[in-house]
Amino acid sequence: MAKKLRKKIIAGNWKMNKSVSEAADLASDIKSDLADYRDADIVLCPPFTALKTVSDVITQTHIKLGAQNMHWASDGAYTGEISPSMLRDVFCHYVILGHSERRTMFNETDEIVNKKVKAAIAGNLCPIVCVGEVLQERESGAANDVVKKQVAGSLAGLGDDIGKVVIAYEPVWAIGTGKVATPAQAQEMHAFIRGVLGSIFNEDIAQSIRIQYGGSMKPSNAGELLSQPDIDGGLIGGAALDARSFVEIVRLAK
Ligand code: PEP
Repeated sequence: MAKKLRKKIIAGNWKMNKSVSEAADLASDIKSDLADYRDADIVLCPPFTALKTVSDVITQTHIKLGAQNMHWASDGAYTGEISPSMLRDVFCHYVILGHSERRTMFNETDEIVNKKVKAAIAGNLCPIVCVGEVLQERESGAANDVVKKQVAGSLAGLGDDIGKVVIAYEPVWAIGTGKVATPAQAQEMHAFIRGVLGSIFNEDIAQSIRIQYGGSMKPSNAGELLSQPDIDGGLIGGAALDARSFVEIVRLAK
């Protein structure tokens, strides 16, 4: 099977950081360097409160907007939640779903993530679906089984819509810890995930889906990670809060 060309995608997950004015400044700084950059897809995921402002800053550029979470319902009595159409209303194109912080702190299961993925696609959003094992699972040799179950559960029943999904492999032990997976460890898991996609869907689809790496990616380690054959981009936390670091990582993704 010929290798498909997969355009790299770098997304910044700002988590619960940045006031509206700080978010506008960060987005402006990134825009001044990357407004016309086309060698990789670029996504900024500020907190909900700053989505509209960042949307206004990046309008008319190639930089896209993403949210960090959403509810699966279209509207109704879900106090505190945000729907897919509300995200489209502020010009979001992407939404991060099933981040490990949501899985562990807010009890999101694969079933919940699956409902959200389907709702995102139905609402014209591209889901960035996060999977990844915790340290104890890696050390006990269970990482592959855990990740396979998350992939299968989170993407169950998607059919042809699987082509609209981006996957982020984020070993939980590497998120926000400064401990990065080695390029070999990351590549091995990415290739494994591609194999799982091939067995659930088909080989053609598996070759076309983009799989980002996430977990303490920064300018000093991004080049080697991003040059691995099955690593198609990065989901960046801490380093995305600094315009210079984020821009440097994007420029390494070709
Ligand atoms: C993340 O939260 O998705 C992440 C990868 O964080 P960090 O880059 O800070 O490890």
